[in-house]
Amino acid sequence: RVLVGTKVDETHANWVTAYNMLTGIRVSVSRTNAKIDRPLTDADFEAKQKSTFDIAGNELVPSAKYDFKFKDYAPWVFRHLRARFRLDPADYLMSLTGKYILSELGSPGKSGSFFYFSRDYKYIIKTIHHAEHKFLRKILKDYFKHVTENPNTLLSQFYGLHRVKMPYGKKIHFVVMNNLFPPHRDIHQTFDLKGSTIGRDYKEDDLDKNPRATLKDLNWLRRNRHLELGLQKKKLFLEQLQKDVRLLQRLQIMDYSLLVGIHDLQRGNEENLRDKTLRVFNPGGDNSREDPSSVLMRTPSKLENARKARELRQMVKSERPVPMGETSSRMPDELEHNQSRVGFVFNQDDGGFRATHEDNTPADEIYYLGVIDCLTHYGIIKKLENFWKGLSGDRDQISALPPHEYGERFINFISGITMSCEEAIRQCQERDAQ
Ligand code: ATP
Ligand code: CA
Ligand code: CA
Repeated sequence: RVLVGTKVDETHANWVTAYNMLTGIRVSVSRTNAKIDRPLTDADFEAKQKSTFDIAGNELVPSAKYDFKFKDYAPWVFRHLRARFRLDPADYLMSLTGKYILSELGSPGKSGSFFYFSRDYKYIIKTIHHAEHKFLRKILKDYFKHVTENPNTLLSQFYGLHRVKMPYGKKIHFVVMNNLFPPHRDIHQTFDLKGSTIGRDYKEDDLDKNPRATLKDLNWLRRNRHLELGLQKKKLFLEQLQKDVRLLQRLQIMDYSLLVGIHDLQRGNEENLRDKTLRVFNPGGDNSREDPSSVLMRTPSKLENARKARELRQMVKSERPVPMGETSSRMPDELEHNQSRVGFVFNQDDGGFRATHEDNTPADEIYYLGVIDCLTHYGIIKKLENFWKGLSGDRDQISALPPHEYGERFINFISGITMSCEEAIRQCQERDAQ
């Protein structure tokens, strides 16, 4: 991981797409938020709302810079989900508003998905495949129920599911979700852990070039690391992880991972340029074409921001969709220190979960933890696998682990890394004695 990415401004290749995504979100979210709250119905899970944007606009849709079509899926369900995750509706819109709207990560994974950060780094927009989109709609009710019953779930928090289509362009599906990592803290090391060793190695030689790359299972093991949580925290963490994985197993999901971001309190925020610049995480690592100076932004005065925030709130209240041009291109100070994750177990220590020694004294790291990439249905993997097998002619080369086994292996690995050396040895001895 590197601190810099690409700011999406007018000169960026994906400017129009990003702009339309945000315009669509803003209009549809403020439309739903403007209505009086009500309980969900079954129909809400199936619902979709289509809007057509153009330069002229009409009584339902404000005029936009570009022509495009936008679809909002299950708007009421996501409104309720945002409330469950305790997002303030006005803050949500604020974050997804502005001129230098987003920064793009490009396509860090193998999947071809694009990642964008909201300018305050609270939210991530991830483009997803049509299959993932259909799958999320299918499991939405189960997901909603799970989140309701497990407010401290470690699973990705989905705040919106949308589709944008430009004239002659293809349909782009995307989700809005939580950025697991805090805007105000340097993350010194990141691991993406699946509990597998095959292909789970980031080339250590490349770390010189890219010291913040996302490391994998083998890198973790090589470092002899463990998640130090102490007894109480460990129990909380593993119990929640178990519950979350049970759901993923039941829904036939696999290929997810535990994302672990580590903030080293000794090192602090030495490299955090946050007040002057917009930071971008680059999990994929190759940042060579990006220029750090392109993300410099002016920090606005507190007064300016307070005024903008007030205006926005008023617009939201008065049921008027927030027009694009009127909103500030800058970070609203008023919201910067707004702790949106207060009250959640795994965000209790400065937005994360403080490392803790066996004797329950605090250690010098803060962990930021979550289960990500959890929209891959076993069926999709199987299809891909068959496709590759067909191409390579090698029937045995790739073998996807079924969801149940995937989950068990995942849990085993993660429980394993929460053990101290002494504990691991004790367990081994007990096993041998049996
Ligand atoms: P693949 O399917 O090849 O694994 P993908 O395109 O589905 O890739 P993800 O696995 O979802 O991508 O994410 C890729 C990387 O992006 C992660 O390893 C992590 O570094 C970063 N990332 C993803 N989601 C988040 C999040 N919610 N918060 C912070 N970082 C994230
Ligand atoms: Ca992944
Ligand atoms: Ca994926």
